[in-house]
Amino acid sequence: MRVELINTGSELTLGFTVNTHLSYIARQLAGIGLRLDRQVTVADDRTEMRAAVGEALQHSDVLIITGGLGPTSDDFTRDVVAELLDRKLVRDEAVASHIAERIRKRGIRLPESIYVQALVPVGAQVLPNRNGTAPGLAIDEGGRLVLLLPGPPRELKPMFEEYVLPVLEKHLGAQARFDCRTFKVVGLAESIVEEKIAPVLADLPDLELGYSAKMGEIEVRIISHIKSTADEAEKRIRTALAENIYGTGNARLEQVVVKMLTATRQTIAVAESCTGGLIANRITNVSGSSEVFINGCVTYSNESKTRLLGVSEKAMAEHGAVSEEVAREMAEGVRTRSGAGFGISTTGIAGPTGGTPDKPVGLVYIGFATPECTDVQRHILAFDRETFKFFVAQYALDAVRRELLEK
Ligand code: ATP
Ligand code: MG
Repeated sequence: MRVELINTGSELTLGFTVNTHLSYIARQLAGIGLRLDRQVTVADDRTEMRAAVGEALQHSDVLIITGGLGPTSDDFTRDVVAELLDRKLVRDEAVASHIAERIRKRGIRLPESIYVQALVPVGAQVLPNRNGTAPGLAIDEGGRLVLLLPGPPRELKPMFEEYVLPVLEKHLGAQARFDCRTFKVVGLAESIVEEKIAPVLADLPDLELGYSAKMGEIEVRIISHIKSTADEAEKRIRTALAENIYGTGNARLEQVVVKMLTATRQTIAVAESCTGGLIANRITNVSGSSEVFINGCVTYSNESKTRLLGVSEKAMAEHGAVSEEVAREMAEGVRTRSGAGFGISTTGIAGPTGGTPDKPVGLVYIGFATPECTDVQRHILAFDRETFKFFVAQYALDAVRRELLEK
C-alpha cells in the first residue's frame, strides 16, 4: 500500500506558511497503521501541479492532495485532477445549497465564483466541510483512492477525522497495517534512553525503534505489524524507563501536570525570573488550569524579587540573584504569599551576555517548595534564549510531576 501526499500552495514554497498538514496527516495515517511514503510540496502553478499529480497517480494506491480548492484564480486542484482522471466536473446541487446556506447565515455578499466549489468530478464522493464552503472529494479511480482536501487547517482537520479516516479504513479493508506507539520521556538524555531500551528490545521480531530528541524531552517510537510484539515492547519500555515516561502519543508535559494536580486537588503558584512567564503560559494553555493555578509572578529585577516575593536582601547581597538561596526564597515566598500548595521558581542566566567564570551562561536554579520542604535543582543549559527558557520550564514542570507521582 503506497501512500503519497501533495501539499499545494505558493505560501508553502515561499516559506510564509509552515506546512503543518504534512505532520498532521502523517500522524493521523500512522494512527491507523499507514505510512506516508512520499510527500511533495508544489506552488500554485498549473504546470507544476499537473506534473506532480500525474506522477503520483502512477505509483500511489492512496493519493492525498491538500489546498487549492478555493474560488480564487490560484485555486485549480479540482480542475487539474478532473482533467488528469478524465472526469467531467458537474455541479452538485447539495453542495451548492450548503454554500448558499453558509453565505446566508454570515449575511454577506460573495461573488458567483464561490460556486466553482460546488463542481464535483463525476463519480466523486463529497466529504462535507463544516467549517468552510469547499467540500473535500474522494475519488475511487479503479481501486486507487484520490482525496482532495481544503487548505485551511481548521477546515482540513475536522474533515480528516470525521470523514477521511472512515473512507481510508473502508478502502484499506483487511490489508496489512502497523501499530505505532509513542512514549514521551523527560529527564533522561537520548543516549541514555537508547542504552536502557535497545538491548531489552533486541530479540523482538518485526520491531522498528526510533528516537526523536525534542526540546527538553525524548520521543521513543515503536512500529510493528504484529500486535503482540508491540504489546511486549511497550511492557519492556515501561519497565526500563519507568517514571521517566510522562505520557504517550501527543501528550504534553503541562497537560499531564495539570491533570495530576487536579486529580490530587493540589494548587500551584510560580515565581519566574529567567523563564519570563513561560511556565505560567504553558500551565494556562491547558483547559481546566484555573482549578489548580493560583498565580504567577514574573520577577525579573532584583528589587521585584524582594518586593513581590519577600526574598531577603541578605540572600541577594551574599549570593546574587542567580543562586540556590534566592531560588529557594522565591519558591517559598510565592508559595506562602499565594496560599498555593506548591511554589516553583526559576532564576538563571539565559545569555548570550551576562555570564562570569563563577556563574556561566546557561546556569539556572529551579526551586520547588512544598509544605514539607524546598528542593533546588541546579543545571547548566547553554542554549539560545528561547530553547533555554523551554528547557527550564520543562525541568520545573517535571519536578511537580515527580513530586505528585510519589503521592
Ligand atoms: P480557500 O478556500 O481558503 O482558498 P483552499 O482549499 O484553496 O482554501 P489554500 O488557498 O491552499 O486552500 O489555503 C488556504 C489557507 O490555508 C491559507 O491561509 C494557507 O496558508 C493555509 N494552508 C494551506 N495549506 C497549508 C498547509 N499545508 N499547512 C498549513 N497551512 C496551510
Ligand atoms: Mg485558496
